Amino acid sequence: MEIGNCRGVVLNLADYRESDRLVTLFTLEHGRISGIARGARRSVKRFGGALELFALLNLQVKFRNALSELLEADIVTIHSGIRSDLNRIAHAAYASDLIATFSPEGLANQRLFRLLTAYLAHLDAGLATVSDRRFFEINLLNIIGYRPELDQCSRCGSLLGEGAERAGRIFGGEVVCRRCGISCREISAETLELLSRSLKTGRFGLLSFSSATLDEAGALLDNAIESHLEKPLRSLAFLRELGDNQIASLPS
Ligand SMILES: [Zn+2]
Repeated sequence: MEIGNCRGVVLNLADYRESDRLVTLFTLEHGRISGIARGARRSVKRFGGALELFALLNLQVKFRNALSELLEADIVTIHSGIRSDLNRIAHAAYASDLIATFSPEGLANQRLFRLLTAYLAHLDAGLATVSDRRFFEINLLNIIGYRPELDQCSRCGSLLGEGAERAGRIFGGEVVCRRCGISCREISAETLELLSRSLKTGRFGLLSFSSATLDEAGALLDNAIESHLEKPLRSLAFLRELGDNQIASLPS
């Protein structure tokens, strides 16, 4: 059995037997892995309080095919700012859920790891906005190969136009031209442009959607994500309960 070091984010935690915990991690080097942390329930000292949701950790792991074993965990950052606010917790939980759902076990994806850690760092710094959530989603879909086409109709292939002329319709989780989506909801040039720029902008917090563009982007992205889910995400229901369009949680 191979013992190695890696860096990972805690996506999920569950108690196991009397004294252990099961941990789902998204690691830089090995993608998603599931591990058992022996003795983590019985003694907080064993892992030094590192096993918290959203924590970024340096880990020593004994790798196994089904269930790896966590040997050591050192905190890089616990993201305590996220934990101080329900709205930030809800956004971080949703992002973690999406990563857990869409990342295959054991397959490294450095871009996806960077996207998740950048989002958590941004949430930790004090803001949870719907603009950032949509920024995360379009980049996630892009990295995993599920991004809706933004420049041409996904049905007939015709270009959606340029500048102010660039417009389409939302057909499920896809963008189509006006002809192919004659009775469908419109998606404006501004929204398409913001989504395209989200893919080229390397940092959270630089782009801001208006409420109209958020509405359109939300309709497209929610459908695009849902079309690839086998079951609804509980974290999404929680996020919606808190209010889908709130821009809350200013720095305290
Ligand atoms: Zn078309």
